[in-house]
Amino acid sequence: MFQCSNVPIIINHTNSMKINILKDICIGCGTCVALADGAFEMGADNKPLVKERPNNTDEEIINAARACPVSAIEIHSGSGNKLWPEN
Ligand code: SF4
Repeated sequence: MFQCSNVPIIINHTNSMKINILKDICIGCGTCVALADGAFEMGADNKPLVKERPNNTDEEIINAARACPVSAIEIHSGSGNKLWPEN
């Protein structure tokens, strides 16, 4: 489990994606957890944690990031290309 901190969290996901949660932007709405609870869970500080071994599909995780109302989830490919947000 990777704890949220003031520093963005980047983890490898199946060696194909990196998930970066911007805690300072996150408003703790829980949408990402509701849509991809195999990858995210709410921490004690009401900010999501990224599970060490996410078991959602890449598509499910990207869809959860797309649904974040404040774009607090960034996703990069394993090679460093930004997958979300698109700009
Ligand atoms: S959807 Fe976005 S704002 Fe809501 S808990 Fe997840 S990261 Fe935070």
